[in-house]
Amino acid sequence: MTLPLTTYHLPLIRGQYRKNAELKSWFDVGGPAEIMFRPADLADLQDFLKNCPKEIPVQILGAGSNVIISDEGVKGVVIRLPGEFAKISCEGNLVRAGAAALCGNVALSCKNSALSGLEFFTGIPGSVGGAMAMNAGCYGSDVSQILVSATALDHDGKLYELKNPDFGFFYRGSKIAKDFFFVEAVFRAEKSSIEAVTKKISELNQQRETAQPIRAKTGGSTFKNPPEKRAWQLIDEAGCRGKIIGDAQISEKHCNFMINRGKARAQDLIDLGTEVKKSVKEKSGIDLEWEIKILR
Ligand SMILES: Cc1cc2nc3c(=O)[nH]c(=O)nc-3n(C[C@H](O)[C@H](O)[C@H](O)COP(=O)(O)OP(=O)(O)OC[C@H]3O[C@@H](n4cnc5c(N)ncnc54)[C@H](O)[C@@H]3O)c2cc1C
Repeated sequence: MTLPLTTYHLPLIRGQYRKNAELKSWFDVGGPAEIMFRPADLADLQDFLKNCPKEIPVQILGAGSNVIISDEGVKGVVIRLPGEFAKISCEGNLVRAGAAALCGNVALSCKNSALSGLEFFTGIPGSVGGAMAMNAGCYGSDVSQILVSATALDHDGKLYELKNPDFGFFYRGSKIAKDFFFVEAVFRAEKSSIEAVTKKISELNQQRETAQPIRAKTGGSTFKNPPEKRAWQLIDEAGCRGKIIGDAQISEKHCNFMINRGKARAQDLIDLGTEVKKSVKEKSGIDLEWEIKILR
C-alpha cells in the first residue's frame, strides 16, 4: 500500500501546490491529481524536478485535449504550466512559443504577422507542449515539418536545447516525449500576407466543421490511422458507428471520435475504445493503436 502524498514530501517551491486538484480534459471526465504543481517560472520548475524524490511519479498535462483522465485520478504530481509559459513572439520568419500557449493562439499570432505554414494549428485545441509530444498535425502538415528547436527539462531538471532531429518524430509521436518536459518551441514559418493566411485558416476551419464533432466533449482522433486504411473507415466497416457504452459514444459524425454524451465515466470511454479495437481486429485483422493517452 502506498501512503497518500502530502506536500511535506515535496520540494519547497515558489509556485503553487494543490492537493486533490480537479483536472480538466476535453472529455470532461476523470478524477483529481493527487498533487497539482504550477511552477512560478522556468527556474522554479527546474528546482522542483532537481529536488523531487525520484519515487514520486511526475507527469505533465497540457490543454487536456488528447487524454482520458482515469476516474480514480492521477497518482503523484501533475505539472500544469501557467500563463508565464504561454508567451508567443514572431521574429522574422521564426515563431517562439511557450509550451502552455494554445496552438490556436500561435496560428492567430502568425496570421497577424503575415506568416504562413502554421495555419493547421488553428483547429488543434491543444497546447504547444502537447503538440510537440504528439507531433500533432492535420491536412498534410504536422509539427515535425515546422519545428526548428525546443527548450526542455529532463526529469532531473537539466535544461536541454533540442533540435528537430533530436525528437525522432513519427506519426503522432516522438521518441523523446516521455523523457522531457517541453517548455518552449521555435517554429519556422514563411512570409506571406494576412489575407492569404486568413483565407487558408477559414478553409481549414470549414473542412473541420463539416467532418468532425468539434463542439462535443471529445478527445479528437481516438486511434492512429494504420498504413492500410483510415481508422474511421475500419471502425465504420466493423459496425461501430454510433456504438454506446454507458454515456460514451462513437460519434455518428466521425467514427474515429469518441464523445461523452454527458455523464460518461473515463472507464466507459476506455471500455468503448477497447470494444471498438476488438471489433476492428475481428473484421479486418488490423490492430488499431490508441492515439489518446490514458493518464492514471
Ligand atoms: C476537437 C479535437 C480536435 C482535434 N484535432 C486534432 C488534429 O487535427 N490533429 C492532431 O494531431 N490532434 C488533434 N486533437 C488532439 C489534441 O488536440 C492534440 O494531440 C494536441 O497536440 C494535444 O495537446 P494538449 O496540450 O491538449 O496535450 P494533452 O492532451 O494535455 O497531453 C497529451 C500528451 O502530451 C504530453 N504533454 C503535454 N504537454 C507537454 C509538455 N509541455 N511537455 C511534454 N509532454 C507534454 C502529456 O503528458 C500527454 O502525454 C484534437 C482534439 C480535439 C478535442
